[in-house]
Amino acid sequence: MPFYFVNNAYLCTLEQGTKLIIYQINMKKIILGVLALASVWSSAWATEKSFTSPDGKLTVVVEDQNGIATYRVNLGATEFIGSSPLGLNTNMGNYTTDLTLAGCEVKTVKESYDLRNIKQSHVDYEATEAVCSFEQKGKKVMDVIFRVSNRDVAYRYRILPQRDTKVCIVNEEASGFKLPEGTITFMCPQSRPMGGFARTSPSYETSYTDDDQMGKNGWGEGYSFPCLFHLGDKGWVLISETGVDGSYVASRLLNVNGGLYKIGFPQPGECNGWGSTSASVALPCETPWRTITLGTTLAPIVETTVPFDLVAPKYKASQEYIYGKGSWSWIIGMDASCNYDEQKRYIDFSAAMGYQTVLIDALWDKQIGYDKIAELAAYGKTKGVGLFLWYNSNGTWNDAPQSPLGKMDKSRERRAEMAWMKSVGIRGIKVDFFGGDKQNMMQLYEDILSDANDFGILVIFHGCTLPRGWERMYPNYAASEAVLASENLHFGQGACDAEAHNAALHTFIRNTVGSMDFGGSTLNKFYNADNKRGTHRVTSDVYALSTAVLFQSAVQHFALAPNNLTDAPAWAIDFMKDVPTTWDEVKFMDGYPGKYAIIARRAGDHWFIAGINADKEPLKATIDLSMYGKGAELLVYSDDAQLNGGVTTVKAKKQMVVTIPTNGGLVIVNK
Ligand code: CA
Repeated sequence: MPFYFVNNAYLCTLEQGTKLIIYQINMKKIILGVLALASVWSSAWATEKSFTSPDGKLTVVVEDQNGIATYRVNLGATEFIGSSPLGLNTNMGNYTTDLTLAGCEVKTVKESYDLRNIKQSHVDYEATEAVCSFEQKGKKVMDVIFRVSNRDVAYRYRILPQRDTKVCIVNEEASGFKLPEGTITFMCPQSRPMGGFARTSPSYETSYTDDDQMGKNGWGEGYSFPCLFHLGDKGWVLISETGVDGSYVASRLLNVNGGLYKIGFPQPGECNGWGSTSASVALPCETPWRTITLGTTLAPIVETTVPFDLVAPKYKASQEYIYGKGSWSWIIGMDASCNYDEQKRYIDFSAAMGYQTVLIDALWDKQIGYDKIAELAAYGKTKGVGLFLWYNSNGTWNDAPQSPLGKMDKSRERRAEMAWMKSVGIRGIKVDFFGGDKQNMMQLYEDILSDANDFGILVIFHGCTLPRGWERMYPNYAASEAVLASENLHFGQGACDAEAHNAALHTFIRNTVGSMDFGGSTLNKFYNADNKRGTHRVTSDVYALSTAVLFQSAVQHFALAPNNLTDAPAWAIDFMKDVPTTWDEVKFMDGYPGKYAIIARRAGDHWFIAGINADKEPLKATIDLSMYGKGAELLVYSDDAQLNGGVTTVKAKKQMVVTIPTNGGLVIVNK
């Protein structure tokens, strides 16, 4: 490419189209041409700023190319995210074009914090922060704030205070992510609004399209976060967002073309058409974080704490919340099981398991009644078992008939209900069937959480959006579904047949950014109270144990049933009695999304190694045992080729070669 000399200051290559200037002969035209060129020039000659992660391995380059703000991300010499657009389109101005980069202020940020309900109990966070200021027509219009840790790149926008207005509408973000050619995708399509069961979508309950090509846009509406990309030999990228609350919309990932994806705002039809698709913000405003977690292996993705590093608690816990395990009749017994006698039997079952709770699902208001619920709560208290109660979120955004109805969508009814809960000693709620990702719905999630905290109540969301940093933002937040959860194992054999495949996806995608209320670890052979009919499990008992470790949520309601005390192996029941639900640390060990997964979690002095195999062939793996002292006594739960499980005690060596059969599992834990 030829070089053109324009003035003493600049020397560079020109884009196609600017070359014609050299053919001008008339002097006046040359001058005009040079002036015209100078304006093209100032933008064609981009300002470029770069900064790196604390370990120097991740590099982010921010530029203004032809008036477009862009960034790109390298790990070492390898490009992971190519030049991708930044910017906001607002009612005050379109900050996606005619931008110049005024500069970036770079500093190191460090924070230590505790996080007892997800992934890692204590986090020492360190990152490079760069505040990059962009101008338009000589006026500063926005900052893009970057955070670069050793495994994550995140950015958000700061919209600056204005003299003549205090509020602003963000209609669209240009925020893009350019993945290299040949990248393979693992993503869940976003569903259309007001569809699915009783018009309850989108609720983040779609099947993954895994091992897929780029250039598609899901079912036409993009993809739900988080989204996983395999860059072949180079490594892996996980894209998500965090820090979303009632002051913005939650977003999705849209394909623009080829390898370019961008942030998409909610769809107009969500929430039965109520509320805008834009974000309405008060100035100055900082938008939610766009997060990119990357590495040569899946380790940074399994181990990342970026959803929590970038947010802060929004209020103080009104009390010390107790997480832990519980049982749940509905997954095996369905609606008919939501009656007084059966719930009493499950309270006894939870007590026998040493569990802290029972979740009473839909229709309890009609089939049990408020007074009898109070009796059950009092009975549970004598056994050390608290109750979670199910609610329909619905105001005007779903047709689901399941009750209680109309208790959670408005402040007066909600707070009156919660005052009753507190008076009878209810531990928590599970609120289902939300209306999408618009700002009004994000505000409802936040209002339910903050009201519940006033009454000392833990909150689980179902039929809902992805939690985005909520484990740290809201101290009484317990868990969210946002996944095709265990109910589908009851509803259809197809889900049972694909159970291990999906679990090997969730481990590396959905559950890496937030708690996942899956409601699994079934030890029944069949999803029916008589354990003889209905859909049947194709996975082993050891697999059930393994997913209790693989899937994380600080509150777990396992799909166990009272009959499992006598019909399931004693070693499996003993394990399920003891398995923790909160952890100190997590480590990626091995795996490929959809095929197999092996990770390790630490609780105190105990390391639990958990593996599953969804591949057609038995998995032979060498397990590193270096986290145990040599000679330590280990309990090894494993399957034979016919999926008959058992537990053996072995002494720790440096490593162990194991075989996990198809649909089988593995758990290793020190005694
Ligand atoms: Ca659901």
